[in-house]
Amino acid sequence: MKAIRVHQCGGPEALVYEEVALPEPGPGEVLVKVEAAGVNYIDTYHRTGLYPLPAPFSLGMEGAGVVAQNGSGVTLVKPGDRVAWCMARGAYAEYAVVPAEKLVPIPANVTTQVAAALILQGMTAHYLAISTFPLKPGDRALVHAAAGGVGLLLVQVAKRCGATVYGTVGTEAKAELARAAGADEVILYEEVDFETEVKRLTEGRGVDVVYDSVGATTFDKSLNCLRPRGLMALFGQSSGPVPPFNLQVLNQKGSLFVTRPTLGHYMRDRRELISRAGDVFIWAAGGELSVRIDRALPLSEAAEAHRLLEGRQTAGKLILLPDA
Ligand code: NDP
Repeated sequence: MKAIRVHQCGGPEALVYEEVALPEPGPGEVLVKVEAAGVNYIDTYHRTGLYPLPAPFSLGMEGAGVVAQNGSGVTLVKPGDRVAWCMARGAYAEYAVVPAEKLVPIPANVTTQVAAALILQGMTAHYLAISTFPLKPGDRALVHAAAGGVGLLLVQVAKRCGATVYGTVGTEAKAELARAAGADEVILYEEVDFETEVKRLTEGRGVDVVYDSVGATTFDKSLNCLRPRGLMALFGQSSGPVPPFNLQVLNQKGSLFVTRPTLGHYMRDRRELISRAGDVFIWAAGGELSVRIDRALPLSEAAEAHRLLEGRQTAGKLILLPDA
């Protein structure tokens, strides 16, 4: 089968489209024929070595397709079932072996491509708005990169919870998309100082929570946007990692809270996975959550997908299609 692998960490050119042996599902595992793989920022961290893996390694933490073969002892799914998964590596390939307990059935009225586009980023938006800082009507949230893959979903889930949402974006075209997703105010953070804007828009009160996936370039000012005892949820680092941090700053800026959450800890068992994924799939199926697929590229063009993502050229989701 064809797969994307990395032999030596580096830029997008490190992604090699090559022939590899068809993997065999072991006990408790399932072989899935991949119909679509989601592209996520974490894939770039694996590719560059920011999150180190022993080489050569496969890529892709999110996919959807059809069960091809069950390993021994698997009863959760059967060949022919449409399934999606995330946080198991190897989706950038024609076939992937996935632990059965990570597979989520795809409802009939959700396409396989939408499932691949939604499961990781949708569950991320879900845990951030519903578990990390459970938003309620009247809360104010600042969402950075509000037209990104996670961003557009997080804006929608935050609005669903009744919050007032301030979004930051890089371009006017992205601003339109963030507004359409429900953002109450959108700030072009390359043109204006977002801290000043947030203070103006909240009449000096600040926001209850900042969902910051941009990291290095936004973290410090984001803390200044929080109300006393507000929460900083630093969940990504698209502009680079946040440098080591003096905790005393949290005291000076208002007894703030900081968390650095990751999806794996918010889908700790099958019950939590099925509940979270079930919510986002039901919302998508009912038209309550809109999933924007920016581009679907052939699997062989994974390097181009990474260039687009890192070059801030995307709004919403990128997926890779092994059969295109
Ligand atoms: P996005 O679609 O959000 O793409 C990243 C966006 O970040 C860009 O489009 C850009 O939007 C903005 N950005 C700002 N500065 C930079 C920069 N210097 N370089 C690149 N992008 C920049 O990606 P994803 O939705 O896939 O992921 C968003 C973030 O969320 C990532 O950091 C990822 O690691 C994190 N994440 C974390 C999870 C968790 O559980 N902790 C789970 C899923 C994702 P603009 O042009 O509008 O500024």
